[in-house]
Amino acid sequence: MPELPEVEVVRRGLVDHLVGRGVTSVEVLHPRAARRHVAGEADLIGQITGADVESAERRGKFLWLPLARGGASADAAIVVHLGMSGQMLVGPGDDRHLRIRAGLSDGAVLRFVDQRTFGGWAVDPLVQADGALVPASVAHIARDPLDPLFDRDAVIARMKRKDTEIKRVLLDQTVISGVGNIYADEALWLSGVHGRRRASALTKPALGRLINDATAVMRRALDQGGTSFDSLYVNVNGQSGYFERSLNAYGRDGEPCRRCGTIMRRESFMNRGSHFCPTCQTVPRR
Ligand SMILES: [Zn+2]
Repeated sequence: MPELPEVEVVRRGLVDHLVGRGVTSVEVLHPRAARRHVAGEADLIGQITGADVESAERRGKFLWLPLARGGASADAAIVVHLGMSGQMLVGPGDDRHLRIRAGLSDGAVLRFVDQRTFGGWAVDPLVQADGALVPASVAHIARDPLDPLFDRDAVIARMKRKDTEIKRVLLDQTVISGVGNIYADEALWLSGVHGRRRASALTKPALGRLINDATAVMRRALDQGGTSFDSLYVNVNGQSGYFERSLNAYGRDGEPCRRCGTIMRRESFMNRGSHFCPTCQTVPRR
């Protein structure tokens, strides 16, 4: 599952290869790739064909391409759902899992390839949310910590009001977006906080440190080209992303903590795994 750094790597690739180009043709090769577009496949194709890609935008793990027509500013966007294995590739390649193909005005071809077909495209109207124009389906998503307009103090205050487990709050995309399971576990380990501690019981400085730690881990992953835990995942040109080997918590259960040597543990949380050091991250009493 691509996380924020991978999605940002894809977005940057799309800025270079797609922005400013017109879409001259669209072919949907698998109906599942268009299923999120409620008006249907023909409408999806009609809304994209003949439009210009104005920019490539991201909030959290959501990625979209605002579409402009006839010199007017964009009022709709392609929301790209990468799902588990979706890739946006520009140029030739293996067409086995090709789901959508779009011809571009510069002669290049954009291919949406998705082996597991959980992903797809939808065209959404742009609406005002949190001081920006975003697709309607993204309007409830909070800004992520890499966003220049991320309001750290306001997010800390919102987290402090949550009388629920801190890991659940870190994963709540309406409070802070883009922090997935991997980065939540890493931030909690760095901060020495167990994910089942109540957010409301943590101090504001402790909540601020968690945000800083999550941000730092995501920035590092981004500098390395995205951490990909899924071998299927490749960036916009089809090159494999850097495989992160420097994780401190995620996937390290049974191995010694890099800070204190205690054997790391894993427990189930929200249908996923939480990885933690029982010494550095004191398990709360139930
Ligand atoms: Zn430890």
